[in-house]
Amino acid sequence: MNSENKGKVIVVGGGIAGLSAGIHALKAGFEAEIYEKNPIAGGECMGWNRKGYHIDNCIHWLTGTAEHTKLWEVWKTIGAIDENTKYADTDKFYSSRVGGQELTLWKDINKSQEEFLAASPEDEEEIRKFFTHVEYAKSCVIPSDKPMDMMGVKDYIVMGKDMANMPKVMKEYGKINCAQLGARFKHPVIRKLMCDYLPADYTAYSLLVSYATMASGNGNIPLEGSLAMTLRIVKRFKEMGGVLHTNTPVKRIVIEGKKAKGIELMDGSLVEGDEVISAVDTDLLFGKFIDRKYMPKALSKAYEQRKAYPVTSGFQVAYAIDADFSVDDTLFFDMEPVKVGNKEYKRMFIKNYAYDKSFAPEGKAVLQADINQTDDDYEFWSSLTKEEYKAKKAEIADEMTKRIVTEFPELEGKIELLDCWTPLTYNRYCNAYHGSYMGFVTTVGNKQMSFKGVIKGVDNLFVAGQWVMSPGGLPIALVSGKFAVQRILKRMKRDVNI
Ligand SMILES: Cc1cc2nc3c(=O)[nH]c(=O)nc-3n(C[C@H](O)[C@H](O)[C@H](O)COP(=O)(O)OP(=O)(O)OC[C@H]3O[C@@H](n4cnc5c(N)ncnc54)[C@H](O)[C@@H]3O)c2cc1C
Repeated sequence: MNSENKGKVIVVGGGIAGLSAGIHALKAGFEAEIYEKNPIAGGECMGWNRKGYHIDNCIHWLTGTAEHTKLWEVWKTIGAIDENTKYADTDKFYSSRVGGQELTLWKDINKSQEEFLAASPEDEEEIRKFFTHVEYAKSCVIPSDKPMDMMGVKDYIVMGKDMANMPKVMKEYGKINCAQLGARFKHPVIRKLMCDYLPADYTAYSLLVSYATMASGNGNIPLEGSLAMTLRIVKRFKEMGGVLHTNTPVKRIVIEGKKAKGIELMDGSLVEGDEVISAVDTDLLFGKFIDRKYMPKALSKAYEQRKAYPVTSGFQVAYAIDADFSVDDTLFFDMEPVKVGNKEYKRMFIKNYAYDKSFAPEGKAVLQADINQTDDDYEFWSSLTKEEYKAKKAEIADEMTKRIVTEFPELEGKIELLDCWTPLTYNRYCNAYHGSYMGFVTTVGNKQMSFKGVIKGVDNLFVAGQWVMSPGGLPIALVSGKFAVQRILKRMKRDVNI
């Protein structure tokens, strides 16, 4: 660690991006202070307790768990995981059920291919093509050394070699969405499975990359869950000398001329700093923290084109159940429609967290159920009064419980509601745009949203967080925090290798 003090970095937002920015700032020799509105840091990488159970509400897979890869090194730097981390012993990505028939994407790709071929010999060509390309997709890496625009020819050559097989994946699956991928198959379960995990309008290659990440052992789930990981990162930040201000909402970033002077807190006090990194939702940054006129074009375009760049949220319910429930991990199934506003949802998924014994008392487990939500749903939920919202939430949770029991009669009388939450919860808790817990979805025919994380016209203000690059998620939050610090170093003409 560099002990020479280079000035003070103020980080706004204590999610994974903010914590990563803080730790990398300390590593580069700055003082670092993080300002977080909630009583606890972590943002969307969160979990909470209810009635003696722990509800883990983030990591379904953590990209970067393969030891000694570049991304793993960054996770290790911030104290999230290391050589001693224990992972959930799961053998599948997810399963899909239609009319009693079920297929699974196993971590073992060959096992999945055999299962699919046995179920649907008439889809042989598409099945083989799909799984061959999942193997190719294992070569996909998230650049984590430095931002792409700081990379030199040598870096590009190395990246090109690492990702040698990705062009094949993009050629075959880069121009279709998950619904179109599903339509390539005749078998009813495969058709649905292909658009179960990611929304149907997501580009199909994203599904292959996600599955490949899991199958290659680079997308494991750390035991004890998301909150425990967040707390390890907070500990690292504090041990390195960082100052975390929780319960401290920020009102705006104070700009004078071409410089960010510091921040104004909600209580009216001013905090000055040499550099400011915003690690909050970009809809909050551009519009409330600073003038919307500073918003980069690519980002404005995504906010304006709601159909081309939808967002992802969920109506989620958590239950206590008996640990011997036969469904392990994640299963999608059809249900009698559930109405949210004007929209009808006909499929939901359940995830059994029995793989982590620390989440429930002995003999019990936590089960979560989820129906996908997007922009329209957010509008519906926000249109309700407080009383209507409460009643609707309870009504839909009840409908979901009934549908789970219809699908799994063995749970009758053995399923107890712990909690339920909606896209509005994410907005309230994290100021998340339209309740989205990921960045913008890239739909076919539209450019993946990304911007540099610098602000034209303000020299010392930088942006981190999952919204700087679609599709967002934990690894983007992680590297964006590091990249923001590297941009500061570059401006100071210092070595960016941290
Ligand atoms: C159900 C669910 C499942 C997920 N599954 C996965 C997964 O399997 N893999 C994966 O990679 N990702 C997953 N994600 C996404 C992942 O959690 C997010 O991408 C990531 O945590 C975003 O981090 P961030 O720091 O960019 O933003 P955030 O977590 O939103 O952090 C922003 C922070 O800013 C704070 N803030 C907001 N307003 C203010 C203010 N005025 N003043 C001060 N602070 C403020 C917020 O409280 C928050 O702490 C999942 C998320 C959810 C909810």
